[in-house]
Amino acid sequence: MTDCIFCKILRGEIPSSKVYEDELIYAFNDIAPMAPVHVLIIPREHIESAARIAPEHASLLGHIWTVIPQIAKQQSLTDFRVVTNAGADAGQTVAHLHFHLLGGKTMGTSLA
Ligand code: 5GP
Ligand code: ZN
Repeated sequence: MTDCIFCKILRGEIPSSKVYEDELIYAFNDIAPMAPVHVLIIPREHIESAARIAPEHASLLGHIWTVIPQIAKQQSLTDFRVVTNAGADAGQTVAHLHFHLLGGKTMGTSLA
């Protein structure tokens, strides 16, 4: 998608700090980290949010969830949190599906 910040990152038009990539997904450090480790995991396919995940994305989502623990291990995390925000009221600011991988500090139990 032309205007999407994360699609621009995928095309190399905006620089990013790569953590992991393969043919389906890309992971990079968040520009404004909220924890010592704050990695964003995104599909190469532009999907607007978790609200747009459909049955044809099942294998992609399964792949993302197998890679997340590998990235956590690569980042030396044993404990971590994964968050995806869908829609403005949930805090989504970039309309390209992404998973926040957070760790490296005690985060407590409050989710909202
Ligand atoms: P959201 O608020 O949509 O759940 O998360 C979007 C995330 O993208 C935010 O944590 C924000 O800091 C991050 N972000 C926005 N623009 C950029 C950018 O250009 N580069 C990187 N690395 N992260 C970005
Ligand atoms: Zn996009």
